Amino acid sequence: MATQTARLLKRLRNDFQLSIITLMGLFGIIGISPYAVYRLLHGNYLVGIADTVIVLSTLFAVLYAWATRDTVKPGIYLAGVFSLGATLIAINLGVNGLFWIYPLILFNFFMVTPGKALLATSVVLVSLVSYALLVPGSVFESHYQMISFLVTCMMASVLSFIFAFRTRNQRDRLQLLAIHDPLTGARNRRAMNEELKIAMASHRRHSDSYGLLVMDLDHFKQINDRFGHHVGDQVLVAFVELIKRCSRKEDRLFRFGGEEFLLLLPNTGLEGLHTAAQNLLRSVQQELETPGGGVTVSIGGAILHSGEHWESWLQRADECLYRAKSEGRNRAVIADAPGHPDKLAANR
Ligand code: GH3
Ligand code: MG
Ligand code: MG
Repeated sequence: MATQTARLLKRLRNDFQLSIITLMGLFGIIGISPYAVYRLLHGNYLVGIADTVIVLSTLFAVLYAWATRDTVKPGIYLAGVFSLGATLIAINLGVNGLFWIYPLILFNFFMVTPGKALLATSVVLVSLVSYALLVPGSVFESHYQMISFLVTCMMASVLSFIFAFRTRNQRDRLQLLAIHDPLTGARNRRAMNEELKIAMASHRRHSDSYGLLVMDLDHFKQINDRFGHHVGDQVLVAFVELIKRCSRKEDRLFRFGGEEFLLLLPNTGLEGLHTAAQNLLRSVQQELETPGGGVTVSIGGAILHSGEHWESWLQRADECLYRAKSEGRNRAVIADAPGHPDKLAANR
């Protein structure tokens, strides 16, 4: 029970959108339920039913988000239902109902993308003003009141839009920085550990096969020493571009050390891993250049064994890389390759 609660709290902490949907859901359910009961008891059925629909659909959307981990659809759904509900309430209650539009504006910006939130708010305001012009005296007590309401709502919307847009941009950039290496754009070591854990779990559950290639540029220090650090940097960037070009779309490239990279290859068996390694060796040798000539890479590879921990898998690939280096560099050594006396195949 305690571990279950801890797990739920961790999900809330890690998933901002889920926590907002849950918080707004609780506000919606606790805050609107008494109004629904009150209005149904006093015969105001239209508003009472609107309130009830809002409460039930909020509950449904929150449960859906928790069950499926999808927070986009529940967000859009809630923004739609709350916008419709608040419009109906304002039309029905007049000025007393208008106060709900202000929290609705903020709510929409929390639930959906800034563009969608602005659109939803505009639809609400246009609907209210159109109704008020068609049925004078129904929503606003005077034109002056209507214009004041519109101006204050528009100010709240524009400010919310700017804030939400900026926050979203910053969050996206932070997320990108957190898992990518800023020099080459390859994923970083933190992302690598996570992906290797996911691969291990997926292999245990579905028996998916995974291959791993650990790559280390040969004599890279000499490139820095001869041509300067910035040329070394350019070689690293060119290497990443080359590997991305030569690997499959589903393969994942990580930079986990200075000139050390890891390529994770889903749905790859021993033979496929071997071919991929040869292909990369050849491409690097033919295409990667410095002002003083070509650059080569050494590669160690391993296929994930059943029941194996990802750290041991990585260690086996690393041992193969060490072996490729000590056997002369510019070669690939793959663990468990058949037809080799000590279960390792070195290829040139
Ligand atoms: P080996 O063939 O045995 O791998 O030799 P090496 O020279 O490639 O390996 P070593 O580990 O001796 O040197 C790695 C060099 O990589 C040393 C370090 O200065 C350089 N390096 C690490 N990170 C960066 C970086 O971001 N940019 C540049 N330009 N160089 C880097
Ligand atoms: Mg090296
Ligand atoms: Mg190295």
